Amino acid sequence: MLINADLHIHSRFSGATSEKMNIETISIEAKRKGVDLVATGDCLHKSWLKEISQCNVIDEGTFELNGTRFILNTEVEAKKRVHHLLFFPNITSVWDFKAKIKSKSKNLETDGRPNVDMTGEELARIARELDVLIGPAHAFTPWTSMYAAYDSLKECYGELTEYVSFLELGLSADTNFADKIKELHRLTFLTNSDSHSPHPVRLAREFNRFEVKAATYKEIKKAILRMDGNKSVLNVGLPPEEGKYHESACSSCYTHYTLIEAERRRWKCSCGKKIKKGVKDRINERADFKESLHPDFRPNYIHLIPLAEIITKAIGQRNPFTKTVNKRWEELVDIFGSEIRVLIDVNIEDIARVTAPAITEAIQLFREKKVIIKPGGGGQYGTIELPTEENKDLMTIQLGPNDTQTSLFDY
Ligand SMILES: [Zn+2]
Ligand SMILES: [Zn+2]
Repeated sequence: MLINADLHIHSRFSGATSEKMNIETISIEAKRKGVDLVATGDCLHKSWLKEISQCNVIDEGTFELNGTRFILNTEVEAKKRVHHLLFFPNITSVWDFKAKIKSKSKNLETDGRPNVDMTGEELARIARELDVLIGPAHAFTPWTSMYAAYDSLKECYGELTEYVSFLELGLSADTNFADKIKELHRLTFLTNSDSHSPHPVRLAREFNRFEVKAATYKEIKKAILRMDGNKSVLNVGLPPEEGKYHESACSSCYTHYTLIEAERRRWKCSCGKKIKKGVKDRINERADFKESLHPDFRPNYIHLIPLAEIITKAIGQRNPFTKTVNKRWEELVDIFGSEIRVLIDVNIEDIARVTAPAITEAIQLFREKKVIIKPGGGGQYGTIELPTEENKDLMTIQLGPNDTQTSLFDY
Protein backbone atom coordinates (compact mmCIF):
# COMPACT_ATOMS: atom_id res chain seq x y z
CA MET A 1 0.00 0.00 0.00
CA LEU A 2 1.00 3.62 -0.48
CA ILE A 3 0.90 6.00 2.46
CA ASN A 4 1.70 9.68 2.86
CA ALA A 5 3.75 10.50 5.95
CA ASP A 6 5.00 13.70 7.56
CA LEU A 7 7.85 12.64 9.84
CA HIS A 8 8.85 15.87 11.57
CA ILE A 9 6.57 18.19 13.56
CA HIS A 10 6.67 19.79 17.00
CA SER A 11 4.17 19.63 19.83
CA ARG A 12 3.01 22.56 21.93
CA PHE A 13 5.78 21.58 24.38
CA SER A 14 8.48 22.90 22.03
CA GLY A 15 9.52 26.54 21.93
CA ALA A 16 7.69 28.89 19.54
CA THR A 17 5.01 26.31 18.80
CA SER A 18 1.26 26.84 18.53
CA GLU A 19 -0.91 25.89 21.52
CA LYS A 20 -3.06 24.04 19.00
CA MET A 21 -0.36 21.44 18.43
CA ASN A 22 -2.21 18.83 20.48
CA ILE A 23 -2.65 15.27 19.29
CA GLU A 24 -6.39 15.62 18.60
CA THR A 25 -6.00 18.66 16.32
CA ILE A 26 -3.00 17.19 14.52
CA SER A 27 -4.89 13.95 13.87
CA ILE A 28 -7.79 15.82 12.29
CA GLU A 29 -5.78 18.35 10.28
CA ALA A 30 -3.33 15.75 8.91
CA LYS A 31 -6.20 13.88 7.35
CA ARG A 32 -7.57 17.00 5.72
CA LYS A 33 -4.18 17.64 4.16
CA GLY A 34 -4.12 14.07 2.81
CA VAL A 35 -1.52 12.60 5.14
CA ASP A 36 -2.03 9.14 6.69
CA LEU A 37 0.79 9.01 9.22
CA VAL A 38 2.60 11.65 11.28
CA ALA A 39 5.68 11.29 13.45
CA THR A 40 4.82 12.75 16.86
CA GLY A 41 7.87 14.93 17.41
CA ASP A 42 8.97 15.75 20.97
CA CYS A 43 8.49 12.18 22.27
CA LEU A 44 11.13 12.63 24.98
CA HIS A 45 8.81 15.14 26.67
CA LYS A 46 6.87 13.51 29.48
CA SER A 47 3.56 15.31 28.99
CA TRP A 48 3.59 14.86 25.23
CA LEU A 49 4.39 11.16 25.57
CA LYS A 50 1.44 10.86 27.94
CA GLU A 51 -0.83 12.46 25.37
CA ILE A 52 0.46 10.10 22.67
CA SER A 53 -0.11 7.04 24.85
CA GLN A 54 -3.77 7.93 25.14
CA CYS A 55 -4.25 7.16 21.43
CA ASN A 56 -5.33 3.72 20.30
CA VAL A 57 -2.39 1.35 20.28
CA ILE A 58 -1.86 -0.38 16.93
CA ASP A 59 1.40 -2.03 17.96
CA GLU A 60 4.22 -1.11 20.35
CA GLY A 61 5.53 1.62 18.05
CA THR A 62 2.35 2.77 16.29
CA PHE A 63 -0.64 4.74 17.58
CA GLU A 64 -3.87 5.99 16.03
CA LEU A 65 -6.38 8.75 16.56
CA ASN A 66 -9.21 9.83 14.25
CA GLY A 67 -7.81 7.61 11.53
CA THR A 68 -4.34 9.20 11.58
CA ARG A 69 -1.42 6.98 12.55
CA PHE A 70 1.47 8.20 14.71
CA ILE A 71 5.00 6.91 15.25
CA LEU A 72 7.42 8.05 17.95
CA ASN A 73 10.15 10.53 17.11
CA THR A 74 11.95 13.60 18.30
CA GLU A 75 14.43 16.21 17.22
CA VAL A 76 17.37 17.07 19.47
CA GLU A 77 19.91 19.85 19.26
CA ALA A 78 23.40 18.45 19.81
CA LYS A 79 26.87 19.99 19.96
CA LYS A 80 27.62 22.80 17.51
CA ARG A 81 23.84 23.40 17.39
CA VAL A 82 23.27 20.54 14.95
CA HIS A 83 19.72 19.18 14.81
CA HIS A 84 19.20 15.43 14.54
CA LEU A 85 16.00 13.45 13.94
CA LEU A 86 15.43 10.20 15.83
CA PHE A 87 12.76 7.50 15.34
CA PHE A 88 11.95 5.07 18.16
CA PRO A 89 10.63 1.49 17.91
CA ASN A 90 8.56 1.68 21.12
CA ILE A 91 7.98 3.60 24.36
CA THR A 92 10.53 1.55 26.30
CA SER A 93 13.26 2.69 23.92
CA VAL A 94 12.17 6.30 24.51
CA TRP A 95 12.62 5.88 28.28
CA ASP A 96 15.95 4.10 27.83
CA PHE A 97 17.20 6.81 25.51
CA LYS A 98 16.19 9.50 27.99
CA ALA A 99 18.02 7.75 30.78
CA LYS A 100 21.19 7.64 28.71
CA ILE A 101 21.24 11.31 27.74
CA LYS A 102 19.83 12.71 30.97
CA SER A 103 23.17 13.88 32.42
CA LYS A 104 23.98 15.67 29.15
CA SER A 105 20.85 17.82 28.96
CA LYS A 106 19.54 20.68 31.07
CA ASN A 107 16.14 21.03 29.43
CA LEU A 108 15.15 17.43 28.75
CA GLU A 109 12.02 17.71 30.90
CA THR A 110 11.03 21.20 29.86
CA ASP A 111 11.61 21.59 26.12
CA GLY A 112 10.03 19.35 23.49
CA ARG A 113 13.22 19.70 21.47
CA PRO A 114 15.96 19.31 24.07
CA ASN A 115 19.57 20.38 23.81
CA VAL A 116 22.19 17.76 24.54
CA ASP A 117 25.86 18.31 25.09
CA MET A 118 26.85 15.44 22.81
CA THR A 119 28.36 15.00 19.35
CA GLY A 120 26.46 13.40 16.50
CA GLU A 121 28.68 10.37 16.93
CA GLU A 122 27.83 10.00 20.63
CA LEU A 123 24.12 10.34 19.92
CA ALA A 124 24.28 7.84 17.08
CA ARG A 125 26.08 5.32 19.30
CA ILE A 126 23.21 5.37 21.79
CA ALA A 127 20.71 5.29 18.95
CA ARG A 128 22.32 2.15 17.55
CA GLU A 129 22.36 0.45 20.95
CA LEU A 130 18.61 0.99 21.29
CA ASP A 131 17.69 0.27 17.67
CA VAL A 132 16.68 3.90 17.13
CA LEU A 133 17.06 5.49 13.67
CA ILE A 134 19.05 8.72 13.43
CA GLY A 135 19.91 11.25 10.73
CA PRO A 136 20.47 14.97 10.23
CA ALA A 137 17.43 17.27 10.28
CA HIS A 138 17.09 20.02 7.61
CA ALA A 139 20.71 19.25 6.74
CA PHE A 140 21.61 22.45 4.86
CA THR A 141 20.03 25.35 6.78
CA PRO A 142 22.35 28.13 7.96
CA TRP A 143 21.70 28.04 11.73
CA THR A 144 21.26 24.56 13.09
CA SER A 145 22.23 22.00 10.50
CA MET A 146 24.88 19.38 9.94
CA TYR A 147 26.37 21.08 6.89
CA ALA A 148 26.44 24.46 8.62
CA ALA A 149 28.67 22.93 11.32
CA TYR A 150 30.54 20.15 9.52
CA ASP A 151 31.97 19.50 6.09
CA SER A 152 30.78 15.93 5.85
CA LEU A 153 28.63 13.19 7.36
CA LYS A 154 31.82 11.55 8.59
CA GLU A 155 32.91 14.66 10.48
CA CYS A 156 29.55 14.74 12.23
CA TYR A 157 28.89 11.05 12.91
CA GLY A 158 32.47 9.66 12.95
CA GLU A 159 32.63 5.89 13.35
CA LEU A 160 28.86 5.72 13.34
CA THR A 161 28.47 7.29 9.89
CA GLU A 162 27.42 3.99 8.33
CA TYR A 163 24.60 3.70 10.86
CA VAL A 164 22.98 6.89 9.54
CA SER A 165 20.33 5.83 7.05
CA PHE A 166 18.48 9.01 6.11
CA LEU A 167 18.82 12.76 5.69
CA GLU A 168 16.04 15.33 5.94
CA LEU A 169 16.29 17.75 3.03
CA GLY A 170 14.56 20.69 4.71
CA LEU A 171 12.25 23.19 3.07
CA SER A 172 14.94 25.06 1.14
CA ALA A 173 16.46 22.06 -0.63
CA ASP A 174 15.26 19.23 -2.83
CA THR A 175 16.62 16.03 -4.33
CA ASN A 176 18.16 17.80 -7.29
CA PHE A 177 20.26 19.91 -4.98
CA ALA A 178 21.22 17.20 -2.49
CA ASP A 179 22.21 14.59 -5.06
CA LYS A 180 25.06 16.86 -6.15
CA ILE A 181 26.83 15.60 -3.01
CA LYS A 182 28.27 12.13 -3.43
CA GLU A 183 28.30 11.02 0.21
CA LEU A 184 24.52 11.45 0.34
CA HIS A 185 23.79 9.03 -2.49
CA ARG A 186 23.35 6.01 -0.21
CA LEU A 187 20.86 7.79 2.09
CA THR A 188 17.08 7.87 1.93
CA PHE A 189 15.92 11.48 1.63
CA LEU A 190 13.05 12.59 3.84
CA THR A 191 10.79 15.55 3.15
CA ASN A 192 8.94 16.70 6.27
CA SER A 193 7.09 19.82 7.34
CA ASP A 194 8.93 20.59 10.63
CA SER A 195 5.63 22.26 11.42
CA HIS A 196 5.02 24.29 14.56
CA SER A 197 1.34 24.81 13.74
CA PRO A 198 -1.60 22.72 12.52
CA HIS A 199 -2.46 25.37 9.91
CA PRO A 200 -2.63 23.90 6.39
CA VAL A 201 0.15 26.14 5.05
CA ARG A 202 2.44 24.53 7.62
CA LEU A 203 1.43 20.98 8.57
CA ALA A 204 2.40 18.45 5.88
CA ARG A 205 3.63 21.18 3.55
CA GLU A 206 6.26 18.52 2.85
CA PHE A 207 5.70 14.77 3.13
CA ASN A 208 6.94 11.38 1.96
CA ARG A 209 5.04 8.67 0.14
CA PHE A 210 6.10 5.18 1.18
CA GLU A 211 5.38 1.76 -0.27
CA VAL A 212 4.69 -0.39 2.81
CA LYS A 213 2.60 -3.39 3.86
CA ALA A 214 0.94 -1.46 6.70
CA ALA A 215 1.05 2.03 8.20
CA THR A 216 3.26 1.08 11.16
CA TYR A 217 6.66 2.00 12.60
CA LYS A 218 8.20 -1.32 11.55
CA GLU A 219 7.09 -0.88 7.96
CA ILE A 220 8.25 2.76 7.79
CA LYS A 221 11.60 1.72 9.19
CA LYS A 222 11.94 -0.89 6.45
CA ALA A 223 11.01 1.75 3.88
CA ILE A 224 13.72 4.11 5.16
CA LEU A 225 16.24 1.22 5.12
CA ARG A 226 14.87 0.03 1.75
CA MET A 227 14.26 -3.54 2.93
CA ASP A 228 11.82 -6.28 1.89
CA GLY A 229 10.52 -4.24 -1.04
CA ASN A 230 9.51 -1.32 1.18
CA LYS A 231 10.73 2.06 0.01
CA SER A 232 10.10 5.75 -0.34
CA VAL A 233 8.39 6.22 -3.69
CA LEU A 234 7.99 9.98 -3.71
CA ASN A 235 9.25 13.10 -1.98
CA VAL A 236 6.80 15.97 -1.96
CA GLY A 237 7.71 19.46 -0.87
CA LEU A 238 7.72 23.17 -1.40
CA PRO A 239 9.69 24.46 -4.34
CA PRO A 240 13.06 25.04 -2.60
CA GLU A 241 12.92 28.69 -3.67
CA GLU A 242 10.04 29.12 -1.21
CA GLY A 243 12.18 28.08 1.76
CA LYS A 244 13.32 30.87 4.03
CA TYR A 245 17.00 30.06 3.64
CA HIS A 246 17.14 29.28 -0.06
CA GLU A 247 19.33 32.15 -1.23
CA SER A 248 22.08 33.98 0.64
CA ALA A 249 20.51 37.07 2.18
CA CYS A 250 20.77 39.51 5.05
CA SER A 251 19.11 38.22 8.22
CA SER A 252 17.97 41.73 9.09
CA CYS A 253 16.89 43.59 5.94
CA TYR A 254 16.61 40.49 3.69
CA THR A 255 18.64 41.91 0.81
CA HIS A 256 19.69 38.98 -1.39
CA TYR A 257 23.29 38.43 -2.53
CA THR A 258 25.01 36.07 -4.93
CA LEU A 259 27.73 33.92 -3.40
CA ILE A 260 30.47 35.98 -5.08
CA GLU A 261 28.97 39.24 -3.90
CA ALA A 262 28.50 37.95 -0.35
CA GLU A 263 32.11 36.76 -0.20
CA ARG A 264 33.37 40.04 -1.59
CA ARG A 265 31.50 41.79 1.20
CA ARG A 266 32.81 39.29 3.77
CA TRP A 267 29.21 38.30 4.56
CA LYS A 268 28.33 41.77 5.75
CA CYS A 269 25.23 43.45 4.34
CA SER A 270 25.18 47.11 3.31
CA CYS A 271 22.90 47.66 6.34
CA GLY A 272 25.71 46.43 8.59
CA LYS A 273 24.15 43.11 9.62
CA LYS A 274 25.20 39.58 8.71
CA ILE A 275 24.43 37.86 5.42
CA LYS A 276 23.37 34.25 6.03
CA LYS A 277 24.60 31.72 3.53
CA GLY A 278 21.67 30.26 1.60
CA VAL A 279 21.06 26.56 1.12
CA LYS A 280 21.58 26.88 -2.63
CA ASP A 281 25.07 28.34 -2.18
CA ARG A 282 25.96 25.94 0.62
CA ILE A 283 25.10 22.93 -1.51
CA ASN A 284 26.88 24.27 -4.57
CA GLU A 285 30.00 24.80 -2.46
CA ARG A 286 29.87 21.24 -1.16
CA ALA A 287 28.86 19.74 -4.51
CA ASP A 288 30.90 16.91 -6.00
CA PHE A 289 28.95 17.13 -9.25
CA LYS A 290 27.87 20.14 -11.26
CA GLU A 291 24.59 18.49 -12.17
CA SER A 292 22.90 16.17 -9.72
CA LEU A 293 23.41 12.45 -10.25
CA HIS A 294 20.65 10.31 -8.79
CA PRO A 295 21.14 6.78 -7.47
CA ASP A 296 18.76 4.24 -9.06
CA PHE A 297 16.49 4.01 -6.04
CA ARG A 298 15.97 7.78 -5.70
CA PRO A 299 12.25 8.57 -6.04
CA ASN A 300 10.84 11.55 -7.89
CA TYR A 301 10.47 14.84 -6.09
CA ILE A 302 7.26 16.76 -6.62
CA HIS A 303 6.95 20.43 -5.80
CA LEU A 304 3.68 21.43 -4.19
CA ILE A 305 2.49 24.86 -3.14
CA PRO A 306 0.04 24.87 -0.21
CA LEU A 307 -3.53 25.34 -1.42
CA ALA A 308 -4.14 28.14 1.08
CA GLU A 309 -1.29 30.12 -0.52
CA ILE A 310 -2.75 29.64 -3.97
CA ILE A 311 -6.18 30.78 -2.74
CA THR A 312 -4.59 33.79 -1.03
CA LYS A 313 -3.11 35.02 -4.30
CA ALA A 314 -6.18 34.16 -6.35
CA ILE A 315 -8.55 36.28 -4.29
CA GLY A 316 -6.10 39.02 -3.40
CA GLN A 317 -5.79 38.39 0.33
CA ARG A 318 -2.77 39.64 2.23
CA ASN A 319 -1.84 36.35 3.85
CA PRO A 320 -3.11 32.76 4.06
CA PHE A 321 -4.28 33.09 7.66
CA THR A 322 -7.44 35.14 7.01
CA LYS A 323 -11.00 33.91 7.60
CA THR A 324 -11.83 34.33 3.91
CA VAL A 325 -8.96 32.11 2.81
CA ASN A 326 -9.85 29.56 5.44
CA LYS A 327 -13.46 29.48 4.32
CA ARG A 328 -12.49 28.90 0.69
CA TRP A 329 -9.96 26.25 1.71
CA GLU A 330 -12.50 24.38 3.84
CA GLU A 331 -15.13 24.54 1.13
CA LEU A 332 -12.85 22.68 -1.28
CA VAL A 333 -11.36 20.23 1.21
CA ASP A 334 -14.77 19.32 2.67
CA ILE A 335 -16.10 18.45 -0.75
CA PHE A 336 -13.09 16.66 -2.21
CA GLY A 337 -11.68 15.02 0.94
CA SER A 338 -8.15 16.40 1.17
CA GLU A 339 -5.91 19.21 0.02
CA ILE A 340 -3.74 16.91 -2.08
CA ARG A 341 -6.77 15.77 -4.05
CA VAL A 342 -7.79 19.36 -4.75
CA LEU A 343 -4.30 20.36 -5.84
CA ILE A 344 -3.61 17.36 -8.01
CA ASP A 345 -6.35 14.81 -8.62
CA VAL A 346 -9.76 16.39 -8.96
CA ASN A 347 -10.88 17.44 -12.46
CA ILE A 348 -10.61 21.17 -12.89
CA GLU A 349 -14.24 21.26 -14.15
CA ASP A 350 -15.40 19.81 -10.83
CA ILE A 351 -13.41 22.41 -8.93
CA ALA A 352 -14.92 25.15 -11.08
CA ARG A 353 -18.40 24.04 -10.07
CA VAL A 354 -17.81 24.69 -6.37
CA THR A 355 -15.40 27.61 -6.03
CA ALA A 356 -14.69 31.09 -7.40
CA PRO A 357 -13.40 31.32 -10.99
CA ALA A 358 -10.22 33.07 -9.79
CA ILE A 359 -9.41 30.14 -7.49
CA THR A 360 -10.04 27.58 -10.22
CA GLU A 361 -7.80 29.52 -12.54
CA ALA A 362 -5.01 29.73 -9.94
CA ILE A 363 -5.14 25.97 -9.29
CA GLN A 364 -4.93 25.40 -13.04
CA LEU A 365 -1.90 27.74 -13.27
CA PHE A 366 -0.25 25.79 -10.46
CA ARG A 367 -0.87 22.52 -12.30
CA GLU A 368 0.63 24.00 -15.45
CA LYS A 369 3.65 25.13 -13.38
CA LYS A 370 3.05 28.76 -14.26
CA VAL A 371 3.14 30.10 -10.71
CA ILE A 372 6.02 32.50 -10.16
CA ILE A 373 8.21 32.15 -7.10
CA LYS A 374 10.31 34.90 -5.59
CA PRO A 375 13.04 33.12 -3.65
CA GLY A 376 13.31 33.31 0.13
CA GLY A 377 16.50 33.99 2.10
CA GLY A 378 17.91 35.27 5.38
CA GLY A 379 14.96 33.80 7.30
CA GLN A 380 12.19 35.18 5.12
CA TYR A 381 10.02 32.72 3.17
CA GLY A 382 9.87 33.01 -0.60
CA THR A 383 6.59 34.23 -2.03
CA ILE A 384 4.43 33.16 -4.91
CA GLU A 385 2.75 35.27 -7.53
CA LEU A 386 0.30 34.48 -10.24
CA PRO A 387 1.43 35.50 -13.72
CA THR A 388 0.07 38.81 -14.99
CA GLU A 389 0.75 40.99 -18.04
CA GLU A 390 3.29 43.00 -16.02
CA ASN A 391 5.28 40.21 -14.44
CA LYS A 392 5.20 37.61 -17.18
CA ASP A 393 8.75 38.45 -18.23
CA LEU A 394 9.93 37.74 -14.70
CA MET A 395 8.97 34.11 -14.96
CA THR A 396 12.50 32.88 -14.67
CA ILE A 397 11.96 30.70 -11.63
CA GLN A 398 9.56 27.89 -12.13
CA LEU A 399 8.74 24.77 -10.24
CA GLY A 400 12.19 23.23 -10.37
CA PRO A 401 13.98 21.05 -12.91
CA ASN A 402 12.83 17.49 -13.67
CA ASP A 403 9.62 18.12 -11.81
CA THR A 404 7.48 15.12 -12.63
CA GLN A 405 4.12 16.25 -11.41
CA THR A 406 2.30 13.49 -13.28
CA SER A 407 3.20 10.67 -10.92
CA LEU A 408 0.97 12.11 -8.21
CA PHE A 409 -1.97 11.47 -10.46
CA ASP A 410 -1.51 7.74 -9.93
CA TYR A 411 -2.39 8.03 -6.28
ZN1 LIG B 1 15.37 21.72 13.68
ZN1 LIG C 1 20.88 44.03 5.63
